[in-house]
Amino acid sequence: MEPCIFCRIARGLLPCKKVYETDTLLAFHDIAPIAPVHILFIPKVHIPSFHELAVCDGALAWMNDLMSAVRIVADEYCLNGYRLVTNIGADGGQVVDHVHIHMLGGQPIGPMRVGAQPASID
Ligand code: AMP
Repeated sequence: MEPCIFCRIARGLLPCKKVYETDTLLAFHDIAPIAPVHILFIPKVHIPSFHELAVCDGALAWMNDLMSAVRIVADEYCLNGYRLVTNIGADGGQVVDHVHIHMLGGQPIGPMRVGAQPASID
């Protein structure tokens, strides 16, 4: 069985609430939304995180589709603006090891520092 949950979604083996799709990209509602609009954008090929984009096949095609997908989805769901976030690795808070961009909107999302502690400066 395909171990990556987002690969399984991309292949139609697990259900999702699909918002938008291209040959390389799938956008769907997050299963545990933290904002009124919380949509994930994933590549259909397995790329572990944003950090691997430069060294993974298929990344450029996905990034190309991502630019227009974000605009198309935001024009439908986030008329007053939105935030894009991608978590990377343990310190970045990444839970699913398949690169995904969170789109958060539908209300004011607040300051960027939410959830993070100020770094100490020596
Ligand atoms: P991250 O912490 O950046 O790895 O975020 C992973 C996100 O994937 C979380 O916001 C989860 O709620 C979301 N998620 C996990 N499983 C599913 C699923 N089956 N369908 C939709 N979203 C999911």
